[in-house]
Amino acid sequence: MKNSGLYVHIPFCLKKCAYCDFYSIPYDEAAAEKYVVALSEEYDKISERYRPRFDTIYIGGGTPNALSTSLFEKLAKKITENFAGGEFTVELNPAASTDFNFYKSLGINRISLGVQSLNDKTLKAAGRLHTAKEALSSLEKAAGVFENVGADVILGLPFNTEEDIKNTLSGVLPFVKHISAYILKLSDNVPMYKIIDSLPDSDAAASLYETAYDFLLASGFERYEISNFCRENHYSRHNMKYWTGGDYIGLGAAAHSFINGIRYENPPDLQKYISGENLGNSRASAAKVSRRDALFEDVMLGLRLDRGLDVPALDAKYNIDFLLLYKREISRSQILEYRDGRLFLPADKILLENQVLMNFM
Ligand code: SF4
Repeated sequence: MKNSGLYVHIPFCLKKCAYCDFYSIPYDEAAAEKYVVALSEEYDKISERYRPRFDTIYIGGGTPNALSTSLFEKLAKKITENFAGGEFTVELNPAASTDFNFYKSLGINRISLGVQSLNDKTLKAAGRLHTAKEALSSLEKAAGVFENVGADVILGLPFNTEEDIKNTLSGVLPFVKHISAYILKLSDNVPMYKIIDSLPDSDAAASLYETAYDFLLASGFERYEISNFCRENHYSRHNMKYWTGGDYIGLGAAAHSFINGIRYENPPDLQKYISGENLGNSRASAAKVSRRDALFEDVMLGLRLDRGLDVPALDAKYNIDFLLLYKREISRSQILEYRDGRLFLPADKILLENQVLMNFM
C-alpha cells in the first residue's frame, strides 16, 4: 500500500456543544478503556489486511484529551507502529487537560486547538466549557512546546460581529501557524437550531468570512483551502489527503476510510464498534465509488483549494481530456479560471463553489 493517512476518532466529550451533530458521547472511563482496546484490535487487523505505511496521523474527536494520559499513551504507542514519520496531529479541547509536554513525548508534532471564539458570551451560548482566557492560556502553552500549532474558529455563532471575529483572530495569531475558519452550518437536530433566526444569516456569515479572509491575508497567512489558512507552508498534510483523493484509514466509531477507490464507514455507535463492526473486521459498510462519482468528488474537492484542480493529473487518472469534456460546464459557470494546468475559482469567489458545482452534477 502506498503512503496513507491514519485518522483515529475519539468520540468522548466532556459536554455536548449546542451546535454539534458529530457522533460524540459523554466521557466514561470504563467505556474509554474498552474503546482503546477495540482501537488497538482494529489497528492490528488493518495492519494485517493492508500492510499500511502511514505518513500522517490525526487523532480527532470528539475530545481526544478527554482520555486519561495512560489510555492516550497506550493508544499513541499502538498507532505509531507503522508510522514512517511525518505529520502527527492531535486535536485538543482547551477545556480538558492539556499537558503539551506529554503529547510531545509521544511523538506528536502538531496541535489543533478548538478555540472557536475569544468572546465569552459566544463560547457560553455555544455550550463550550472553556473561556477566552483559558483558550489563550492553552495556546500560549502549546506554542511554548510545539512549533506547529493551529486553532479552529467558527464564523456565524451567537454574538459574532466583524469586530468580534477580528478580535478572536488577532488574539490567536501570535501563537499559531494554522487557522481553520469554518462557517457554522446547523443541522435541525442540534439545540442551537432553535435560535437559528437570531444567528447571522448566510449573507452575514459570508461577510464574516470575508472579514476573516482579509484579516488573515493582511497578517501574512495564505488560504490554501476554502476554510483553511496557514503561514510558512504549515498546511495540514493529513487533511490535504482528503482533498486530493489520497488514501486514508479511519479507526474508531463513526470513522471513515478511503482505500483503493472504496469508501468504508464504521458505525457511529460505540457498542457496535466495540463488538467488532469495523473496517478491521471487514464489517464496516463499504461502497465502491463509481468512476463518475469519483470524478465529481475530485472536481468538488479540487475547487475548494486555492491552487485549484490539477487538470493534467485528472486527465491521466481518468484517461480523459477534462477541459474538452466539460467545456460547456466550465463556460456556463462563468467564473472558473484556467492557468498553468489548474482550473480554479478566483480568490474572491470561492464561496460560490456550490453554485459552480451545480453545472458539473
Ligand atoms: S467538543 Fe467538539 S465534538 Fe465534542 S460536542 Fe463540542 S464540537 Fe462536538
